[in-house]
Amino acid sequence: MNKNDKASVSLRKILGISLILIFITSMGVVATNAKLVNVKIVLSSNYEMKVLTAKTKVSEILEENHITLLEDEVVVPDINSEISENKTIKISKVSEVEQEVAQLEETVSTEQILESYKSVIEKIITEQVVIPYETITKEAVGEGTKQNKVVQNGINGLKEVTYKVRYQNDVEIEKVEISSKVIKEPVNKIVEVKTIQVTSRSGERLATTNPAATASTKLAKSVEGITPIVKKFNTSAYCSCSKCCGKSTGITASGARASSWYTIAAGKGYKLGTVIYIPAFANKPNGGWFVVQDRGGAISNSKIDVYMGSHSEALQFGRKTLECYVYEF
Ligand SMILES: [Zn+2]
Repeated sequence: MNKNDKASVSLRKILGISLILIFITSMGVVATNAKLVNVKIVLSSNYEMKVLTAKTKVSEILEENHITLLEDEVVVPDINSEISENKTIKISKVSEVEQEVAQLEETVSTEQILESYKSVIEKIITEQVVIPYETITKEAVGEGTKQNKVVQNGINGLKEVTYKVRYQNDVEIEKVEISSKVIKEPVNKIVEVKTIQVTSRSGERLATTNPAATASTKLAKSVEGITPIVKKFNTSAYCSCSKCCGKSTGITASGARASSWYTIAAGKGYKLGTVIYIPAFANKPNGGWFVVQDRGGAISNSKIDVYMGSHSEALQFGRKTLECYVYEF
């Protein structure tokens, strides 16, 4: 063995040991690598650094990398928490966080914010309010007046209403009724309305001529200004005997004593006092002019019954359909 040989042997030894050492070391690195994680740390200056660490707590990772939080800095995730899933730790200035919040607030218009700061005043006020009266109609009973009649005048009532009113810059923006108290009840207006018997009166038409204008009797003169209705009535005659009336007093429904060639009985659709002219009796003492003074159980609105002085006279007349002129007032 020469000197050179000895040197190569020791070199081989060194290489061999080195290889073993490298092998052992790399084994150790592989073993350690299993616990290490890559974490990204973003500093407040936006500088990003990637670190390899075995720690999981935020504070420990920062400490390991010699990063100290300043007073005006915040960290996400929180310093005492475990590292987040995306393995990023972000450090920001507190003022930047506030700015972000401020930017969010700016999306609400400045006007809206100012509006909400304008003072709203609330007041409780009491007002007197008129309660309008109601109009009630009643059907007139029996033989009434032709026109509608006010039987009771209406009087408005009064109530005290309490409101909660909200004003903004002296402008009323809301008014809510809280309570109300009636001071005076209204009085209803009551109107008596004449019953209009449309269905029971048929076969009528307005006359184109007025017989009263050329007649000379007192009764005719009294209705001269009225336009008559022309209608054909089923006409019969009666007297005051019990056969005709069931009684024999001679007193009509109007209260007046029946008079021949004057009294006529008609249906309830024609009020007492209505004047009827029957041309068929124009040659009679009354000139054909009658007044509705009586009623009768069998007298409908299509029938009239002419009062005559005797029963035989009434029988002799029998029954006829006669055209009549009706004067209503
Ligand atoms: Zn009779």
